[in-house]
Amino acid sequence: MEYVNSLIDLVGNTPLLKLSTVTEGLRPLVLAKVEYLNPGGSVKDRIAVKMIEAAEREGKLKPGGTIVEPTSGNTGVGLAIVAQSKGYRCVFVCPDKVSEDKRNVLAAYGAEVVVCPTAVEPDHPDSYYSVSDRLVREIEGAWKPDQYSNPNNPASHYESTGPELWRQTEGRITHFVAGIGTGGTISGTGRYLKEVSGGRVQVIGADPAGSVYSGGSGRPYLVEGVGEDFWPANYDQEVCDRVIEVSDAESFQLTRRLAREEALLVGGSSGMAAAAALRLAAEVDDPDAVIVVLLPDSGRGYLTKVFSDEWLTRYGFAPRPETGRVVGDVL
Ligand code: PMP
Repeated sequence: MEYVNSLIDLVGNTPLLKLSTVTEGLRPLVLAKVEYLNPGGSVKDRIAVKMIEAAEREGKLKPGGTIVEPTSGNTGVGLAIVAQSKGYRCVFVCPDKVSEDKRNVLAAYGAEVVVCPTAVEPDHPDSYYSVSDRLVREIEGAWKPDQYSNPNNPASHYESTGPELWRQTEGRITHFVAGIGTGGTISGTGRYLKEVSGGRVQVIGADPAGSVYSGGSGRPYLVEGVGEDFWPANYDQEVCDRVIEVSDAESFQLTRRLAREEALLVGGSSGMAAAAALRLAAEVDDPDAVIVVLLPDSGRGYLTKVFSDEWLTRYGFAPRPETGRVVGDVL
């Protein structure tokens, strides 16, 4: 019989898919690492497993303990899955701007979700940062993973994503492209690929225009999960050879094209990373180049945003109708 004992055993070892339509006219091979095929639907399952197992080993998380993290998205789902299979309680704290759908996903896995007002300063006692810190102090046996500074976030990618890509491409990968949020994915995967290739693999960050990684001030942008207005400890500034800035319009346009032309229903940060990868492919123009772009999550969580023509229009990205129906391109 062929089966696994735990959902945790299904984390990682995601496939590489050749992008064939959106790459028309480009010479390098462009491969997508499809992270929505993780059991929790995103790349964040990887860090959840590693952060929890390390906390157990270090005695920070004991049987019956509670995981408390300010998160509303993919990291919460990853933590909830691992926590459930190991018998921990989860309390997630999120601002009230987070959609009810997202909160319900966490609750469906059995997590408790504490909702805080968005319209308060970070140091206000009701802010979601303050509330999560207070809960950690008040709940006995509580542990906060803190994905922005926990070294096991990049370590999980150093140990899994990096070696997978090296093996899957038989060492032929020449460029690795990923978005930067906490910095864990690019720092861990990038460091491994640099080391194993003797510095040959180029590591390229993709960043929303306005975010600090591409020289911005933290000015708002709409693509979710990537870009920051501060420099997290988990972003290793030595690993990235270059950061490519991508506008919201370009990110959303490519997100819609990936769904329509490659049947890849992925989130906006995937469209952003893919946009950077395509720009890079045009520049590199070498038939021996193998560019790998990591697509972090599924588009299912964004049906009322990137995939809604009404939403795009509201934010000034007019969808282009073709042959009487909306084809899905923006601008
Ligand atoms: N895309 C999405 C949808 C994410 O949730 C995240 C994590 N914040 C990222 C990309 C960026 O990954 P990392 O935190 O490893 O830099």
